[in-house]
Amino acid sequence: MPAEAPSDPVSERHSRSYLVSESAVRSSVAAVLFDMDGTLIDSEKVWDRSLVEVLRWLGGTDLSAEARRETLGGNLASSLAIVFREAGVLQTPELTEQGARMLVDTTAEFFEAGLPWRPGAEEALRTVRAAGVPVALVTNTGRFLTDKALVGIGREHFAVTVCGDEVPRGKPAPDPYLRAAELLAVPVGECVAVEDSPTGIAAAEAAGAAVLAVPCEVAIPPGPGRVVRDTLVGLRIEDLAAVRSVVRERIRA
Ligand SMILES: [Mg+2]
Repeated sequence: MPAEAPSDPVSERHSRSYLVSESAVRSSVAAVLFDMDGTLIDSEKVWDRSLVEVLRWLGGTDLSAEARRETLGGNLASSLAIVFREAGVLQTPELTEQGARMLVDTTAEFFEAGLPWRPGAEEALRTVRAAGVPVALVTNTGRFLTDKALVGIGREHFAVTVCGDEVPRGKPAPDPYLRAAELLAVPVGECVAVEDSPTGIAAAEAAGAAVLAVPCEVAIPPGPGRVVRDTLVGLRIEDLAAVRSVVRERIRA
């Protein structure tokens, strides 16, 4: 005869968390939400080359360091606006459409050729999946290019994928993270987001997820909503649980 189900789901969860560490992690981290560019794959450099190509087509020469920083983690529209600004060219609808097509086509060629993993990223995906914690891909990149990247990354890693062109507002707005949590049917406040850029971190923190920041192109300063780590190499599922508990305690304080 099965034991009677506990009447209080909170105390049930609490008592279960002492049984084994894996179930403790499952109960404390509802899902892990991974950014793509710069977090899982080393694609920011590819975006950079594509943006410079559009800039030169507009008569510019090279992106300033500040413009490069601004485009990190951005979406196609925001990055294109920066390129037009850097070139000193008025962004007409016609030029914008041509520039967007050039940006997508150039980037697609790079994505199809395959992109290198960021250190430890592939193993981190496997670790989270092996622990039975749902994984989402949450990217500002559009669906067309994301699907190309997913051929190399492996679609099977993700319970859901959310792209920048599938939500009303891309990162740094919280929309992509809120949508991922909604699709997974988990509270976003019980999720850990893994991000590399200030734009992505702003989105995840605005959504209410605890953030594991793994810097790629620019340094990430400490903040109450995040834990900064050099790389994903050696990431354990317990480390993700620790990120959530550290952030939760800081926010309560
Ligand atoms: Mg990123």
